[in-house]
Amino acid sequence: MEKLKEACGIFGIYAPGKDVARLTYYGLYALQHRGQESAGIAVADGRKISLYKGMGLVPEVFGGQEIDNFSGHLAIGHVRYSTTGASQPINAQPLVFRYSGGMIGLAHNGNLTNAAELSASLTSTGSVFQTTTDSEVIVNLIARYSQTGLVNALMKCMISLAGAYSLVILTENQLLAVRDPYGFRPLCVGELEDAQGYVVASESCALDTVGARFIRDVAPGEIVIIDGEGLASVQGQPGRKNAHCIFEYIYFARPDSCLDGFPVNQVRRLMGRRLAEEYPVRADLVIPVPDSGVSAARGYAEASGIPFEEGLMKNRYIGRTFIQPSQDMRDLGVRLKLNPAREILAGKSVVMVDDSLVRGTTSGKIVKMLKECGVKEVHLLLSSPPIVHSCYYGIDTSNRGELIAAQKPIEEIRRFIGADGLHYLSLEGMLDIFGERRNDFCTACFSGDYPVKIPSSARGKDALE
Ligand code: SF4
Repeated sequence: MEKLKEACGIFGIYAPGKDVARLTYYGLYALQHRGQESAGIAVADGRKISLYKGMGLVPEVFGGQEIDNFSGHLAIGHVRYSTTGASQPINAQPLVFRYSGGMIGLAHNGNLTNAAELSASLTSTGSVFQTTTDSEVIVNLIARYSQTGLVNALMKCMISLAGAYSLVILTENQLLAVRDPYGFRPLCVGELEDAQGYVVASESCALDTVGARFIRDVAPGEIVIIDGEGLASVQGQPGRKNAHCIFEYIYFARPDSCLDGFPVNQVRRLMGRRLAEEYPVRADLVIPVPDSGVSAARGYAEASGIPFEEGLMKNRYIGRTFIQPSQDMRDLGVRLKLNPAREILAGKSVVMVDDSLVRGTTSGKIVKMLKECGVKEVHLLLSSPPIVHSCYYGIDTSNRGELIAAQKPIEEIRRFIGADGLHYLSLEGMLDIFGERRNDFCTACFSGDYPVKIPSSARGKDALE
């Protein structure tokens, strides 16, 4: 794993008279960066919920007539990278269930920290699970409390759930959006430009894509209810200390999104500027590792006065199904994705900016490639602090053993990568960017300061296998 993997992207729309399935498809397309293992759409028409989902990218799953076959006025969609539960078709979302109150569809972004306990307790009292995802625990809890109506059931359910969950839920007639009381994963609401409906999405870039105007972020602990009466809101649980995932800004979110009031591109640029203040390096050029390092590299170049150049060209057409090269050709993997611009780089000292370092193997290959094409010195600067702890809130950091910064001191990492210099943005420097709201974020993978305690049963993605 060369980059941390985002868990999921979710999307929901309520828009009578519109092609809600196609708009959901476009919304999921905009959120594809959040999950590439599976995709699914559920559409409701007032009487029933129809579902189609499968393994692969959004255009692979919906490559035929699937979208045309849907009809209805509200829909939800999901793109998934598995954090709890194996990567199998059964675990793809949305999950659609029948319960005493009718039909319900649910799509979840995040990771429950008490899924194993809840699952054991539900199973012991008669619940049957069809998947190994923590999301089905939520569905079972909703079903259990459903006699009091869906919103009340959700409020009760939120008392039991711990950890990270942003949800979109649909019934035959209603769309609901729910965010956990810490607001770990992003979720926002928008209105279609012709005021003919509402949209909810993990990121504002998906609202832009379907022509919706951003209204606001869903508040931590809030339940937003959208139906024929318009948009209503109840506080499902009191908001706790905000703990928005800071890694959304560093890497996961699309740079054109705005999350909880902070435009992602601007935050990344400021991270680069701060990096230049903390680690001024004498160099001829600043180059980004595309695409994740671009905004921070621009910030570094602006603050340092060193010219910015796109020294590494990225092949954008390498799909998920790219066949990994054999052992003796393994450098080819990086060369297929990135190629250095020799005429720009030869004989130069460069500051190479990337967003983060997980295992360090790809960075090592890039440095080797740059040196082979005549670069004099490569200083790797990272626009985030060292990742030294696992995430249990919906990002796949696997185990700490894979995190190079948890295993080696910085000087050893530098030698492993073969760089002439290696510097990380400080935790303080990163938080300073958020000013008075510096305490509104989860930083656990850097600081070990977990906002929601992690029971030993939260072992990772196989917890419910
Ligand atoms: Fe985000 Fe890291 Fe917190 Fe996980 S531990 S939610 S990746 S900041």
